[in-house]
Amino acid sequence: MWFDMKKYLIIGFAFLISSCSLIQFGGYNPPTKDELLSNSAYKWQKDSTDNFNYYYDPITMSQEYVDSAKIYFERNYPKLLKFLGIKEYRNKLNLFMVESRPKMKNIIGMETNGIANAKDNTVYSLFNANVKTYGMHEFCHVISINEWGGMYKEIWLSEGLAVNSDNIWWGFELHALANYLQHKGKLIPLAELVEKFHDYNNFISYPECGSIVKYLNEKYGIELIRELWKNGSIVFENKLHKSIKSIEEEWLQEINKHDYTAINYGEKIFALYGEKL
Ligand SMILES: [Zn+2]
Repeated sequence: MWFDMKKYLIIGFAFLISSCSLIQFGGYNPPTKDELLSNSAYKWQKDSTDNFNYYYDPITMSQEYVDSAKIYFERNYPKLLKFLGIKEYRNKLNLFMVESRPKMKNIIGMETNGIANAKDNTVYSLFNANVKTYGMHEFCHVISINEWGGMYKEIWLSEGLAVNSDNIWWGFELHALANYLQHKGKLIPLAELVEKFHDYNNFISYPECGSIVKYLNEKYGIELIRELWKNGSIVFENKLHKSIKSIEEEWLQEINKHDYTAINYGEKIFALYGEKL
């Protein structure tokens, strides 16, 4: 059988995004699919499923990763649309599977694990022995930007939403991981994340915003998330008549219910990046 479920699960579980680059570089736009395909320096093989095109170099990209991608992305696509409250998405999505960060730099102009060109429905993601970007994160950015009426107002919400589209971070449930971070004294005040998301450590800001957005979605629903997307955190006051601080306190009460004793996120970060949390 061409597809081995056990291998797929192992690969699927190993996806580890540390951050994405959609926002950091604000005005930065990676090339479009057609621009890259017309660059003779690269040889891309194309494969397709119903909703995705996959481009990769067959010499350097493991076929196993491509086969798993074809299963993974189709399987998770309907879940992503449902999560975003979208019945149908009319564009085909493109995934360039890139095997190294230096190659990523050559292609798009900077080193990153993942980046999206939303207008072009194109995502560039890293797949190698250490980093396998099986996750809907970048595609969540693409579809939300194209379907929710343009660019988000605040980064924390957009990244929290994208983290939520996978509903886990490094294999950990989001509220349990947030509670773990709380007990380590690492959580960043929400008001700070709203103001200057990128001043803070990605290892904390991404999963923390993921947990906050998850909570907001559970408690208030996707419509509130869409309003936050459009108008920013002023919506807490205007719609809910609550301050950022009181929203944060509600969320902290929720995450306190989630057992974090089995979480070894700090050890994982150290093993992979040599950094202390
Ligand atoms: Zn992102």
